[in-house]
Amino acid sequence: MAGFSSAKKHHRTITPPTIYVHNGGMAETLVFDNFEVTIIRSPRRKTAAIKVDLTGVSVRVPQSLAQERIRELIAEKSDWVERKLEVSEQKRQAIATQEARRERLDNGSLILIQGRQIPLDLREDRQMSVAEESGQLIVRGPDAMRGEPEQLRALVEHWLYGRAVEELHFCVNVYKQKVGASPSLIQIKDYRARWGSCKPDGSIQLNWRLIHAPIHIMDYVVVHELCHLLEMNHSRRFWTEVERVDPQYQMKRQWLKDNGWRLTL
Ligand SMILES: [Zn+2]
Repeated sequence: MAGFSSAKKHHRTITPPTIYVHNGGMAETLVFDNFEVTIIRSPRRKTAAIKVDLTGVSVRVPQSLAQERIRELIAEKSDWVERKLEVSEQKRQAIATQEARRERLDNGSLILIQGRQIPLDLREDRQMSVAEESGQLIVRGPDAMRGEPEQLRALVEHWLYGRAVEELHFCVNVYKQKVGASPSLIQIKDYRARWGSCKPDGSIQLNWRLIHAPIHIMDYVVVHELCHLLEMNHSRRFWTEVERVDPQYQMKRQWLKDNGWRLTL
């Protein structure tokens, strides 16, 4: 949320928590000692749900719930919110470090392939090629490539995409029998914020970055999307289908929520 960190500083000394309403637009905000909460009202909601992520704290509430009541609900959960914010902050810093490191793909850099850290081994060659051999990702090419990190990155990414296409198709073939549903089309996509999707035409879309994930996590995403061919929603019946094929799915789903952001080159 914009302005979160400055609000944190300015309001740190105010006790008890003070209510603050921005009436100018749709955003309604509660300010607490150490954080700010965006209120999102909805006529369809029956209960309140607090969410903490990289963008800040928000709460979804029934349309007419009194602001005082919302304040109480959040005050009761403030320890939990602060813990979650700390985790978010750690994630934010890790992502910043990751981005800073992004430019420096070089000999010895670790590439995450199916949950394993594989060292990059650059070798001089006239022809450019990439291959995984004896626990290393060997990139062959003219020495000049070392001075061209973007070209090296593009080469590795292209290879990873190809691996993803192969592994994901294989995985779909294995699980379509177990799920009992076959997609009309498998598309391997470059998604930023999702792992897969399923369309009413019976096609499924899978994120190529799943090639970074451990195999059992890739399995779960494939099973999840295949089960959408049976149930086009996240109903209890849908999750029952997922569980039938993948009894460990809850643990994997949680793993993806916690670690998905690490799955990148
Ligand atoms: Zn789904």
